[in-house]
Order: sequence, then structure tokens, then C-alpha cells
Amino acid sequence: MPVDASKKDLLIGITGAGAMGRGIAQVAAAGGVKVRLYDLNADQSKEAVDFIGKMLGRAAEKGQMTADAVSAAMGRIEVITDVKGFAPCEIVIEAATENLEIKKKIFAQLEAVVADGAIIATNTSSLSVTTIASACKRPQRVAGFHFFNPVPLMRLVEVIEGILTEPWVGDALITLGKRMTREPVRLKDAPGFLVNQVGRGYNIECQHIQHECVAGYADIDRILREGAGFRMGPFELLDLTALDVTHPATELIYNQFYQEPRYRPSSVMRARLEAGLLGRKVGRGYYSYEGGKQAVPEEAAPPAYDGRPVWISPVEKDGFRALADIVEGIGAPLDRGDKPGRDSLILVTPVGEDITTTALAQGLDPARTLGVDSLVGLKTRRTVMTNPATQAEFRASAHGLMTKDGVKATVIRDCPGFIGQRVIAMICNIGCQIAQFGTASPEDIDKAVVLGLNYPNGPLTFGEVLGPANILRILNALICFYGDPRYRPSPWLRRRASLGLSLFAKEI
Ligand code: NAD
Repeated sequence: MPVDASKKDLLIGITGAGAMGRGIAQVAAAGGVKVRLYDLNADQSKEAVDFIGKMLGRAAEKGQMTADAVSAAMGRIEVITDVKGFAPCEIVIEAATENLEIKKKIFAQLEAVVADGAIIATNTSSLSVTTIASACKRPQRVAGFHFFNPVPLMRLVEVIEGILTEPWVGDALITLGKRMTREPVRLKDAPGFLVNQVGRGYNIECQHIQHECVAGYADIDRILREGAGFRMGPFELLDLTALDVTHPATELIYNQFYQEPRYRPSSVMRARLEAGLLGRKVGRGYYSYEGGKQAVPEEAAPPAYDGRPVWISPVEKDGFRALADIVEGIGAPLDRGDKPGRDSLILVTPVGEDITTTALAQGLDPARTLGVDSLVGLKTRRTVMTNPATQAEFRASAHGLMTKDGVKATVIRDCPGFIGQRVIAMICNIGCQIAQFGTASPEDIDKAVVLGLNYPNGPLTFGEVLGPANILRILNALICFYGDPRYRPSPWLRRRASLGLSLFAKEI
């Protein structure tokens, strides 16, 4: 008989009362579900109950809950000191230490205690649900139930079906997740599940870009935060999550996918990890932290625009129009010749290509040619890109011009796809591949990423905003330039972009 997770007197169990177990217990109890809480270390369970009491008390002080609701929720949590106490639980969630051997042992113990029809779910963040289930006599009732930290604030929960998980198990966990006021998304077991796969596209690509000396950490952070609308730049985010968490997780996902180049870790991260530059928690990471406060290198004031005529390449029609509007708005003289005048500053707006390739392909003087990213950040923080032949006076002219109307601009070295285009294309491509593998629906991929990573858009919506054809162009340019299969477009993207379809289009 499938578990009815909607029934009023549902009783669940949680094993492991650490950071995650207590958060899960809190949202379950607050959502009206009775909980039995166990930890190998009995003090942890007691601490967990005190902690939940404090958290709910704070919610009451803020007027988010009534005092009666707090005491009712606390009354739903019962600490048990013997695993046998889970016997009547219809769903047990394992949130113990992240170690396969420990988890396999716990699952075997639980199977011996709970009814045959009970669900056993794991909150693992990096182990395969299918592998954990393989230790069980009844793997069909095992699933992942992956919450995010801190649980009460992070509404997403990934419901993960292992290869043998029966559909009713996912149905019940979705119902339970909703009762806990979470936003569940359903997916098939995959390394990194969903959110942690997509997260690689952001941090790791930026680390590769920095490794190539395209720009410094703080500049990359500024471009992605202010230009592309990410809540945090990749390096401040890496400092927050800490390299001893992020880098091993990246290596694990990469290896679980049998060295999939899209997830290739960075040797710089490994070196920084070994040097102890872990991030905020140790006071030293990509930034330094004094008294917990991040020290951000100051941005130099831009040079003044020297007033020279500006010739904009008409090859990219949309880019030309967008940039010409800005230049005219600034009141700078637009060079309207078919070819650039002798002293004109030359601006190009490539999609995917670097400035060297663009200048040579269009027969432009590289010494005077710079690029402006017309797809990302044109109104918020602009990216201006040089090439190895760019002369200093033209760099200064372009930088001054692009900041004259008060919008900030960052000058970077030559890079296919600038920074914004390249990173967004990478994120979109990973999202498309997740859709291609059928790991989750396009809608759920976007929902999970927005809720779990706080990105301004999900991967597929990012693609829709920039245009699927543009994303395909960016990736094709990247693979053409680097010859690295890391950038090969997902079939999901290639087909839909080529057919002029939305990235949400499903095949019958
Ligand atoms: P934690 O170290 O805070 O808590 C783990 C708890 O498990 C400890 O209290 C420990 O005493 C207990 N424990 C160990 N062996 C046990 C056993 N045999 N039976 C019962 N309890 C046992 O760890 P956490 O951060 O709460 O992580 C728990 C799980 O959640 C891990 O699988 C982790 O990967 C996953 N997770 C963690 C996060 C996060 O950001 N912390 C996010 C998502 C998922």
C-alpha cells in the first residue's frame, strides 16, 4: 500500500539531528507532521530540540507564527534514543554524516525496523541514491529527499528517484515536501542531482576565465553581479561556501560523470585549497576578511573619454543598434563611414567570438579595435574587451566612452564570449543537457536553480532571454576557439536553437 503522506496523523522519522536533521524536523513539525528524531549522539537530539524551540520562538516574536502554533509544533517532536522507535513511522528521512558506509549501515538498520511499505529517504548531498538503495532489501522504497541549508530559509527540496525507486515513493515525498511548506522538484538520480550540477557552470567557468588572466576576481564578480544580475559574484560565493566543500564536490561530480569535460575542476582551486585559502570561515580566500568584513579591492576611476569619433561595426545588427543608441545618447561623434576613419575608435559587438578573431574576420585595425558585450549588462555594468594588439590610448578612450553616461564598465582581456555571455551559455548548456538526459522537466530545472542557487533566471530561461540561437553561437565560437569538448552544445540546445524553438519545447 503506497504511503498516504497527506493524512493528518502522518508520523515520520528523522535520523541524524545535526544542521540538516534539525532543520527538516523544524519544517515538518511546523507543517503539522509528527516527527520522531534520533541521533547516534543523544546530546545532539536534545540540542536540536532546543535549537528548534529557539527558531520557532523567534518566528513567533516576528509575528510569523502564534505562540500556540509554536507549542503545537514543539509537541509534535519526540526524541527517541533507540532506532526501534522508528517502527511505526511511514517515512524515515536519513540526515546523518555524509559517508557511504555509515549510510548503508543506517539503511540496513532501518529496514529491519520499519514496515515493508514504509519509505526510507536520504538527504545525501553527493552520494548516489541508487548506490545507497543497493544496500537495501527493498530498494524500490528508497529515494533522495535533498534539502538545502539552512532548511527553514531554503524552500527547495529535490525529490530524487533512484533507478529502482517506484513512482508512488516520489509522489508521497512531493506531498510531504509541500506539507513542510517546501517547493519540491522531482528528478532522476544523477551526480550532483540537479542544482549542484548547474552550480558548476558558474563557479568553475569563472575560475577557468580567471586562470586565463582575462580579469581579476573582483572584476569578474562585479561583471556577474552588476552586469548579469547574479546575487553574488562567483568568487564571493566560493568564499562563502568554502573551497574545502566546493572543490571536493566538483571533483566528485566530474568523476561520477566519468570525466565529463563540462564539469572539469580547476587546478587553481586545488592549489588554493591546499594553501588553506578556504574562504570566509578562515578569513582568507579569494578575498581577505577582517573582523568578518570582506576587503574588496577598489575599482580605479575610469579615464576621461578623449572625444575621438567612434566607428561601430554593423556586422551584428542588434549589437550595432544597441551600442549606437548609447554612443549617440552620450553625444559622442559617430563615425558613419563604411570603413573606420583614420583616428576613429573601433567598437565591435561579437556574439561568442573574441576580439582578435572578430577584428581579423572583419578586416579591422586590431590596435584600435575593442569589443563591448551587447548581450549582457549593457545598461547595468558594461564589459569592454581588448585584444593583444590594442593600444593604451584606445583602451582608455573606449573605457571613458562607455562610462560617460554614469554606467560603470569593466575592461577585460580578450576572451571568446566576454565573461557574461560565456558563463550564461555554460549554465544554459548544462541545464539543456539535464533536460536532454530526462533528469527533470525543463520547468523543474529552472525552478530548482532559481530557488536553490538564487540565480536571476533558471538555465533555460537564461537561454530564452539571450536567445537560443545566440547561446548556440556562443558555444560554437568557444569550441571553435579552444577545441575543448567542454563547450560542445547539448543536443537539446542544438536542435531547438536550429529549429527556432523555445528551449522549453518538448518532443512528443
Ligand atoms: P552534521 O554533521 O551537522 O550532522 C550529522 C549528524 O548525524 C550528527 O549529529 C551525527 O551525530 C549524526 N550521526 C552520525 N552517525 C549516525 C548514525 N549512525 N545514526 C544517526 N545519526 C548519526 O551534518 P549535516 O550538515 O546535518 O549533514 C547531514 C546530511 O545532509 C549529509 O548527508 C549531508 O551531505 C547532507 N546535506 C548537508 C547540507 C549542508 O549544507 N550541511 C546540505 C544538504 C545536504
